[in-house]
Amino acid sequence: MSHQTLDEIPVQQLKGVGPKMAEKLAGLSIRSVQDLLFHLPLRYQDRTRITPIGALQAGADAVIEGEVKAADIVFGRRRSLVCRLQDGTGTVTLRFFHFSAAQKNNLSNGTRLRCFGEARRGSSGLELYHPEYTLVSGQQAPMEEALTPIYPSSEGLSQQGWRKLSQQALNLVKPNTLVEWLPQPPQLNGSAVSLEQALLYLHRPPTDAPVGLLREGEHPYQQRLAFEELLAHNLSLLKLRSQTRAHGAPPFIGEDRLSDEFLQELGFALTGAQQRVVTEINHDLKQSKPMLRLVQGDVGSGKTVVAALAALKAVACGYQVAIMAPTEILAEQHFTNFGHWMQPLGLSIGWLTGKVKGKQRKQQLEAMLEHQVDIVIGTHALFQDEVQFAKLGLAIIDEQHRFGVHQRLALKEKASADIGHPHQLIMTATPIPRTLAMSAYADLDTSVIDELPPGRTPVTTVVIDNARRAQIVERVRNACSEGRQTYWVCTLIEESEALEAQAAEDTCENLQALLPELNVGLIHGRMKADEKASVMQAFKENGLDLLVATTVIEVGVDVPNASLMIIENAERLGLAQLHQLRGRVGRGSTASHCVLMYQSPLGQQGKQRLQTMRQSSDGFVIAEKDLELRGPGELLGTRQTGLMQLRIADLERDSHLLEQVKVVAEQLLQQHPNAVDPLIQRWLADGEQYAQV
Ligand code: ADP
Ligand code: MG
Repeated sequence: MSHQTLDEIPVQQLKGVGPKMAEKLAGLSIRSVQDLLFHLPLRYQDRTRITPIGALQAGADAVIEGEVKAADIVFGRRRSLVCRLQDGTGTVTLRFFHFSAAQKNNLSNGTRLRCFGEARRGSSGLELYHPEYTLVSGQQAPMEEALTPIYPSSEGLSQQGWRKLSQQALNLVKPNTLVEWLPQPPQLNGSAVSLEQALLYLHRPPTDAPVGLLREGEHPYQQRLAFEELLAHNLSLLKLRSQTRAHGAPPFIGEDRLSDEFLQELGFALTGAQQRVVTEINHDLKQSKPMLRLVQGDVGSGKTVVAALAALKAVACGYQVAIMAPTEILAEQHFTNFGHWMQPLGLSIGWLTGKVKGKQRKQQLEAMLEHQVDIVIGTHALFQDEVQFAKLGLAIIDEQHRFGVHQRLALKEKASADIGHPHQLIMTATPIPRTLAMSAYADLDTSVIDELPPGRTPVTTVVIDNARRAQIVERVRNACSEGRQTYWVCTLIEESEALEAQAAEDTCENLQALLPELNVGLIHGRMKADEKASVMQAFKENGLDLLVATTVIEVGVDVPNASLMIIENAERLGLAQLHQLRGRVGRGSTASHCVLMYQSPLGQQGKQRLQTMRQSSDGFVIAEKDLELRGPGELLGTRQTGLMQLRIADLERDSHLLEQVKVVAEQLLQQHPNAVDPLIQRWLADGEQYAQV
């Protein structure tokens, strides 16, 4: 008899799943019983034994049982119901801020309660806020027999509900109802673990499970699933690559006149690394398959020139180029650079951001569609549906880590159907540790510009307490009086552009008052594009001595004469961001300095971060450290973009699996291609699937 596998059984067949619940679950991409089983607990609670009240510890979850000694409504800063519970070993306070009259009446003296919650230190000793509780009447109410899983949830779905659902799903697991797609189970710590074993265990770990390992995600059963999850992501990217590569692309052959002319006018020779990467790119561009290339190069390594040479190849062959930057400022800078370089060559440069509106926008879109512009520079706006090109041959994405895979994908739709897909060149200044690159960019070939242009002087970094601000202001005065320009970067904890802008405005006023002899400028994300552009222009032309800025200047801004940078509250920023910011100085021939100000006391992480910055100027070293301190999500900016939302794997913790993942991925694609889609389907929620057929 053939039976159904669990991916074929819709959740609606479970008890308690009506249309409404089904819709909620679908919102979490849970449609089948298998989906439910792959919705894994985030953590576990131990409700298998009762902790004596006298042995409760602050910060720990515990089950306690005792007798109510008093329950009163207290009118403190907030009205609350306070209940004292006693078990012979001690007394503890239960505190409820939301409660009903019935609830108060239920908690009358002498009632026995079993509670679960986290003990915290409160005004009356240890307290449990809003514990879960049940009244116990009989002598011995049964205890939980397995660790209690806590599931990732969304509104309207209780943990109890999740437990009921997962229990039903677990009951349906019979031999061969979960398909093993791996040709053989991965060898983890020497033992082979089946999928079925792993899932049963992780949904209901036994009471003697090694909680420490589970908490760290290092249990072999978790590793088994992490392996499969990383594999699914890898396959998804490889599939995306092969789908993209299955399309034709226009080969750019010959036509070196524009590039030659450009190089002659440039005023400097390419570094060896730039030269090598240009050769790699040119090789790709000659093919009739789309290039998919990531160029990694530390800040200041000269990626823009490399991009310009690729663009000229496309234009020389009669195609258009789209260049996308993550911020307006950076897009403007490219616009200025490309205009300066390419107008003399007779090229026409277009400009499209979200702020280009109305008639102007319409004209720009028409010009692109009618091939009146060769190169269009812009921001996210270039991804929008209405944007179409006549002959898009190359898409360049600068600072890729700010964009997600999805956005990258949206681009290939922009070329008209008859010419195939555009070539893609992706540039990032965030040096990505190799393991990360391997998984997050499995679909891209990579080139590295591992050499800085000659004549750069390394930036000396010092770390100084905010309290010594006056001293730093003097330092700025001295530097500027010698004709050196300075950045002063304001940062805020809150992710509010408005607040950050306000802080920068205040700082600017304050500094101008302290340094009346200097020309002080201000730039922040709330200013209009043309205002920002004119401030940047003034700074570039040395019309301003001091530029007070928010982190909007983080990426790419290039003013070689600026040789001092002050970063306020540097401890709040991540290493990658600090490295980017610092990269704004040290671009000229004068010795540059970076002052990292911090608010004491400095936490352990903050200390380590600032120390790393002081000790190293190598982007790769800093990135490795960043990965260690913060994890890959932050590093790749994936929090925002949704790239690689992992359920159980952790790129850093599980990086030792990645080599094997890569091997198995290739093996599956070659030998078991029918396993690829089901694996992707199993692990990647619909929203995250990069390659949709
Ligand atoms: P990034 O890689 O950070 O985007 P840019 O492309 O902005 O770096 O280049 C930084 C600066 O170095 C620019 O002023 C650029 O003109 C200059 N530059 C780039 N390549 C060279 C080179 N080979 N020799 C000298 N200066 C160069
Ligand atoms: Mg750049």
